[in-house]
Amino acid sequence: MSLKDKTAIITGSTSGIGMGIAQGFAKEGINLVINGFGDVDEIEKERASLESMGVKVVYNAADMTKPDEIVAMVEATAKEFGSVDIIVNNAGIQNVAPVEAFPPEKWDAIIAINMSSSFHTVRAGIPYMKKQGWGRVINIASAHALVASPFKSAYVTAKHGVLGFTKTIALEVAQDNITCNAICPGYVLTPLVEKQIPDTAKARGITEEEVKNDVLLAAQWTKKFVTVEQLAGTALFLCSDVAENITGTHIAVDGGWTAA
Ligand code: NAD
Repeated sequence: MSLKDKTAIITGSTSGIGMGIAQGFAKEGINLVINGFGDVDEIEKERASLESMGVKVVYNAADMTKPDEIVAMVEATAKEFGSVDIIVNNAGIQNVAPVEAFPPEKWDAIIAINMSSSFHTVRAGIPYMKKQGWGRVINIASAHALVASPFKSAYVTAKHGVLGFTKTIALEVAQDNITCNAICPGYVLTPLVEKQIPDTAKARGITEEEVKNDVLLAAQWTKKFVTVEQLAGTALFLCSDVAENITGTHIAVDGGWTAA
């Protein structure tokens, strides 16, 4: 089945991985609801550039910490496009600190954005997928859904939770022609990661170049950062017909990190 004219909601798609997936999807003719924070003019530029690929693209500003706004985004998508075919739960934030210094409000925000927002999109979107007898849920988890790193307690907790959620939903909708899977990227050079580099350099007393090579890529056996294009391709594969029996699992795109 062609993916042309399907409709996808991609949370957190005003930057990084979400934006890369939006570009990959637009190239395949998938209509899009993009979401996330940022400069209004920049977002409009992104929306128009995606639309220039021949698809319809709407921006929705729903805050992933606000369940009502998330549900309203899903409902608005169904109204505008007549369906919600694909949900990519991608929005995420990070905070790096030892647990005893971890700000409780950061913990709550990470759990809300990186984990609970997926529950809210799926809860609202699954009835539409069931009604049309087809759907794809793709949760952008992380290598940190499979293994831990110190000082990322909230992030690792949220991402492990996302994997449990992925498996549960897959079972619930297995006979409705809906799949639910997670993609677990290793390090991708997006603003989320770039922001951590100066702090990590300071904390460890090393240069930013050393952080990239000796800390971030230390566990990535290919010694290469994952690219957003590779993740867009993986997401498209999970949407394709040949992936209809792949459900309740994850694909690690991590340069061998979690194999070791
Ligand atoms: P990014 O910072 O470039 O983009 C994050 C996106 O989420 C932005 O569009 C931002 O506006 C949006 N966002 C943040 N808070 C939001 C909120 N409250 N409501 C709505 N949108 C919100 O980050 P990224 O690296 O592209 O990360 C995307 C996803 O990939 C995250 O879930 C992240 O955990 C995951 N991931 C990233 C890496 C990596 O190395 N970059 C690795 C593994 C997993």
